[in-house]
Amino acid sequence: MSDFVMTIAGEAAPTEGTFGVRNPATGEVFAQAPECTRQQLDAAFDAAAKAARDWKTDEAARRAALLSAADVLMASTAELAPVLTAEQGKPLADAGGEVFAAAIWCQYFANLDMAPQIIQDDDTAHVELARRPLGVVAAITPWNYPLLLGFWKIAPALLAGNTLVLKPSPYTPLTTLKMGELLRDVFPPGVVNIVSGGDELGAWMTSHPVPRKVSFTGSVETGKKVAMSAAPDLKRVTLELGGNDPAIVLDDADPAVVASAIFAGAFMNNGQVCSAVKRVYVPEALYDDVVEVLAAHARAIKVGEGNEEGVKLGPINNEPQYERVKELVADALSHGATAVTGGKAMDRAGYFFEPTILTGVSDGTRIVDEEQFGPALPVVPYRDLSDAIDRANATHFGLSGSVWSADADRAAEVAAQLECGTAWVNTHLALAPQQPFGGFKWSGIGVENGPWGLAEFSEFQVVHRSKAADGLNVSTESLLA
Ligand code: NAD
Repeated sequence: MSDFVMTIAGEAAPTEGTFGVRNPATGEVFAQAPECTRQQLDAAFDAAAKAARDWKTDEAARRAALLSAADVLMASTAELAPVLTAEQGKPLADAGGEVFAAAIWCQYFANLDMAPQIIQDDDTAHVELARRPLGVVAAITPWNYPLLLGFWKIAPALLAGNTLVLKPSPYTPLTTLKMGELLRDVFPPGVVNIVSGGDELGAWMTSHPVPRKVSFTGSVETGKKVAMSAAPDLKRVTLELGGNDPAIVLDDADPAVVASAIFAGAFMNNGQVCSAVKRVYVPEALYDDVVEVLAAHARAIKVGEGNEEGVKLGPINNEPQYERVKELVADALSHGATAVTGGKAMDRAGYFFEPTILTGVSDGTRIVDEEQFGPALPVVPYRDLSDAIDRANATHFGLSGSVWSADADRAAEVAAQLECGTAWVNTHLALAPQQPFGGFKWSGIGVENGPWGLAEFSEFQVVHRSKAADGLNVSTESLLA
């Protein structure tokens, strides 16, 4: 595959330099992506700043453009999904699902109300809360859902009247570049600029003087660097970072039912989801039954190249992540864990790892304490529920979590004690554009989605119209009295 090019000021922006993109199913470079120079990044921010002047003035045009973008995305599934599968590794059906979800996010924001709020309207004053755009947004995305997470930023940023420069991960730049090309006629030139390059390009973006906002999704480690880089200029930041989501099974749960759903919540996208289940706490009495069901699913699920019929799990996306999963599983095994199934890399080319269920692990083991972000799930027994809740919360992470029980009210009481941005009851990974998504603690700052996510792409402005003939109000009139 070739012909991937950046979009700056509504036009193709060819580069001299390129870098290789690997297919994780083979480990081989299959395409070249453009390497953005500093001068081209300046040009992209300049184009975004110029485009912002008109773009912010016509809300109806912005909504119409977002709806058109959704149409183009849906109509381009057959073009985009194979690229996503090739660079990310996910099965083709899931890649198509990601394109579809990106379109749904566009439609949601195209129709989201953002009328000014009336705070006061009486004899003395009419006070409104209006939203003003921030200006230019620097958007940076990770490699697990490059297209969808891109639109978690593009759609609200544009509706709010901002323009943007977006940089995908160097592991998965191609679908985003292709999307930029497909949308060149949908948005006015400069409204959406797509650049690609290595991590240093992200650092140039966050320290660049033009953007007023950085919207970042990625790891905690990089998120801290982004926050530091944005601070001297007081750029607004939204940080969607990592998670180590606990699933807590209560003692009245049906193991067959909950373990199947927990498996789905843990292994979606081959475990490479920020808010996937990353550790399971199970009462001792149910432990063997829950493990058996989890292991049965792990043994039965079809792993392979994303283009292959019936494949549900692809490879791990990239070599460092593959090495990390191998290392965390090996560490657990060396500390007394048992791989009930899986436990090692698959004997084939590419970054394939056997779906793994680990027992004999507890808190204090790296794979329980850290974010594994891959197809390996530790199952931890507990005796006392309040102790399990404490252990679930004893982490710097706080993205999401779930509680599983035959009694939803009881589970909801436990869920309310979880220190995380989303607490699910009898489900996991139920995400939707109207729900704010974000993390407590090191899992992030701010939220995306819903009116709350939209608010993070706006400055609030109070417009206060006095109705007093003399213009005096309660706080100023005593001065002249
Ligand atoms: P990463 O932090 O390595 O990279 C994310 C992006 O940041 C990439 O585009 C990268 O090029 C860029 N980057 C790297 N260094 C940078 C710097 N110094 N300044 C600016 N940008 C820089 O993360 P990743 O490995 O691509 O993604 C996996 C992580 O993302 C996991 O921790 C996962 O939990 C997290 N994630 C979070 C969410 C969420 O919504 N909370 C969603 C998906 C993934």
